Amino acid sequence: MSTKSIERIIQPAGTHFVGDGFKVHNIIPGIQGLSMQRMSPFIMLDYNAPCYFPPSETPRGVDVHPHRGFETVTIAYKGKVEHHDSSGGGGIIAEGDVQWMTAASGVLHKEFHEKEWSKHGGLFQMVQLWVNLPAKYKMSAPKYQAIANSTIPKFNLPNELGIVEVIAGQYNNLKGVASTFSPVYLLNVKLKATATANFSFPANFNTAVLVLEGAIQIDGNPVPTNAFALFENKGEEFTIQASENAQVLVLSGEPINEPIAAHGPFVMNTRQEIMQAMHDYNTGKFGYLD
Ligand code: MN
Repeated sequence: MSTKSIERIIQPAGTHFVGDGFKVHNIIPGIQGLSMQRMSPFIMLDYNAPCYFPPSETPRGVDVHPHRGFETVTIAYKGKVEHHDSSGGGGIIAEGDVQWMTAASGVLHKEFHEKEWSKHGGLFQMVQLWVNLPAKYKMSAPKYQAIANSTIPKFNLPNELGIVEVIAGQYNNLKGVASTFSPVYLLNVKLKATATANFSFPANFNTAVLVLEGAIQIDGNPVPTNAFALFENKGEEFTIQASENAQVLVLSGEPINEPIAAHGPFVMNTRQEIMQAMHDYNTGKFGYLD
């Protein structure tokens, strides 16, 4: 085993709104060098860093829209999101919960701040990640995993210095709760100041860390709040040390070495399949949602 070194540390620049409810830094694929191919199977990462939404009687969010060919993973850190899709999936995710929606052959869905939360407003913090599907699963049936925080396996670091929540993959033999279609690790790591945690992923896996709260060092390199640290595709192991109380999202996945054709909410392998997706959407084949 050898050290997996940092390739780049990126501080995301501006934000933009998705609908009127998500004020995000687009990290994948918007930042140069973080293309869908480079980061596969992670083909999109939007980060809504903590921001305040004032009270609103009408929940803010994104109205009905389609997806085909991949999975959307939403992690709520602050605030509440309500989701409904045309396959019957839906629910409310609150602090610490995860929603893992397999769009696959196609769903319509909508994503809004939860109604009661919206009335009061408050601090909102969320990650939305798109995980690509291997070609053979792109047209499989949609699926929905509602993952309450209480069901996420938690590895306690020695001396109560931190917790590793295993959303997907595994950590120290603790298996993640989410089922995935290709090898994916998704770990939510909470560390007290000065605590360290060790990680090991296969050399070829695309691996990165997003700092959600506080600041960390990775093998001595400072990684501040909101920064995204991308690792080289060699070596396996690295250590995160919290410079202050910190929370980070660690992602690592086996690249899906297949062609990518992407157009808005559709991510397929060929342009022909994108045309088909648009045709199917326009002719009502994605089902119906109010
Ligand atoms: Mn969506």
